Amino acid sequence: MNWLTNFVRPKLRALVARKEAPENLWLKCPKCEQMLFMRDWEANQEVCTHCGHHMRLRPLKRLPYLFDEGRYELHPLPRVIADPLKFRDTKRYDARLKEAQAKAQGTTDALVVSSGPMGGRIAIVALLDFGFMGGSMGTAVGEGLVMAADLAVARKAPLIVFSASGGARMQEGILSLMQLTRTTIAVRKVKEAGLPYIVVLTDPTTGGVSASFAMLGDVHIAEPDAIIGFAGPRVIQDTIRQELPAGFQRSEYLLEHGMVDAVVHRHKLRETLIRLVSLLMDPIASEGRGLAVAVR
Ligand SMILES: [Zn+2]
Repeated sequence: MNWLTNFVRPKLRALVARKEAPENLWLKCPKCEQMLFMRDWEANQEVCTHCGHHMRLRPLKRLPYLFDEGRYELHPLPRVIADPLKFRDTKRYDARLKEAQAKAQGTTDALVVSSGPMGGRIAIVALLDFGFMGGSMGTAVGEGLVMAADLAVARKAPLIVFSASGGARMQEGILSLMQLTRTTIAVRKVKEAGLPYIVVLTDPTTGGVSASFAMLGDVHIAEPDAIIGFAGPRVIQDTIRQELPAGFQRSEYLLEHGMVDAVVHRHKLRETLIRLVSLLMDPIASEGRGLAVAVR
């Protein structure tokens, strides 16, 4: 019996295991349900190669696609008090935070601030990370956005924000809500300096973030089929007691109704941002190109 359990069984298991494909080689598109080869999907910026569905791309994976030759610098978020209210629900907030930091591999909260050349011009890019506690905005995110705005003003550079958030971070209570005004003031500083502030709305942008800096851009670009809104559709439907139209709170619907200026495929984002910044920062030099865009 010992020989059977200690020797034969592991041998058999090893034989069977070798035939199985590694679990992380394929994934299923949540929209068209086709199987995607992981490597192709990653090379395609996490857009489905069959139906073009844009999946949620985390900041560190997105950054190389934005800057010239993928060169950029990361700016660590300012240090803040980690758990100001000593909050606890089913778990302690500081434990939740540590867990998210361990999973995020290198980022400390739900915002990543970076700078680098885009079309030969330095740009400050701040990206919210939905994978980090639902992209929720607490003190660290607020401080990070203020830092990004200050960087933009100091370097006379445009500020580009990628939003993806479930809203305010409830574990920080009122301190989290205060970030709505703080980030609004930060954005205002950029505008007062005459610098462009562009927002790229990605799936999902909701709650306190959509009620503050994500809706204050000079230009609003959205990724296709992203959910953008303040409250969820079910809450609205229950409040107004009316059936909501198809595609409600999706990028394309919001474009039709004037809430966003353009819906842009992820592959075209970099060139669109470069063109926009160029139009906003040196309108005379890029007049010809601007006209070409309009005619097309
Ligand atoms: Zn698909």
